[in-house]
Amino acid sequence: MADIKCIGILTSGGDAPGMNAAIRAVTRSAIFNGFKVKGIYRGYRGIMTNEIVEFKTQNVSNIIQMGGTILKTARCKEFMTPEGRQQAYENLKAHGIDALVVIGGDGSLTGARIFANEFNFPIIGLPGTIDNDLHGTDSTIGYDTALNTIMECIDKIRDTATSHERLFFIEVMGRDAGFLALNGAIAAGAEAAIIPEISTQVDQLAELIQNGFRKSKNSSIVLVAESPVTGGAMALAERVKNEYPGYDVRVSILGHLQRGGSPTAFDRILASRMGAAAIDALLDDQRNVMIGISNDEIVYVPFAKAIKKDKPIKSELLNTLHRLSI
Ligand code: ADP
Repeated sequence: MADIKCIGILTSGGDAPGMNAAIRAVTRSAIFNGFKVKGIYRGYRGIMTNEIVEFKTQNVSNIIQMGGTILKTARCKEFMTPEGRQQAYENLKAHGIDALVVIGGDGSLTGARIFANEFNFPIIGLPGTIDNDLHGTDSTIGYDTALNTIMECIDKIRDTATSHERLFFIEVMGRDAGFLALNGAIAAGAEAAIIPEISTQVDQLAELIQNGFRKSKNSSIVLVAESPVTGGAMALAERVKNEYPGYDVRVSILGHLQRGGSPTAFDRILASRMGAAAIDALLDDQRNVMIGISNDEIVYVPFAKAIKKDKPIKSELLNTLHRLSI
């Protein structure tokens, strides 16, 4: 193993429930294995601004149940420049940090990949994003909690949708990925999901209306993934008003609700396993990999593969939603 004594840990990009469970697992597992741990506040920006403190086991007590991230998160433009990364490298060295664990989404892992290559610096990534858009892992940290939040919100919206016999478009997060919309729709028993993976191939709205999806029902709920590709729920509702008058259409945008809350048991266990595996990976001389869990096994996913765009959506899920919405 490379001569690693001190591991820095940071959370970066969009926050996700379960990041704290991951911070706890990385910290405790590192200390268990004899490493020193330093918590870096506000993502890559904290490296530039030297917001770095030593973490003991008590620093991560009582956080497994908390949403958000105790290390805070931020976006950092400077880290996107070679000069910024040079400064970051010097600051890390000055703090005696000789490996990093980065918890974040595809942007954060893209930055990690570039930095690790430039300075031959050991970095292990953990997939922290509600979007589930990273390759090589069945689930990302925060995805399951967000999915449960979406399901609970839709259960409530369904009451009013049914009482007023309305068509509801519910916009959910996901960036360019439709996982939250599609699985949220299945979990909540919605009629359909309009997702970016399909939007370029067919006019999903026209298809829905033409299929007469409301004929036998007194209300309809359609999930829409927020994305320039789908156009978002507002734009789709406008289209319905203009092209298909007669539908009483309403929009609900769930927004940042989806990012918050106490992580589910699934996310806590996922984050704990992945956090512990990050230290195993460093002990195993791995670097430039993201920890994934695939078919219930820990896997090391090279950054280049993890951050590839367009993680595929299973057609079986689409078919299931379609068949169950008649
Ligand atoms: P997420 O990790 O949730 O996808 P962002 O895309 O905002 O979030 O990325 C978080 C941070 O990662 C950015 O503010 C930047 O500091 C770093 N980052 C993203 N892309 C790059 C890149 N191409 N080069 C260097 N750093 C990057």
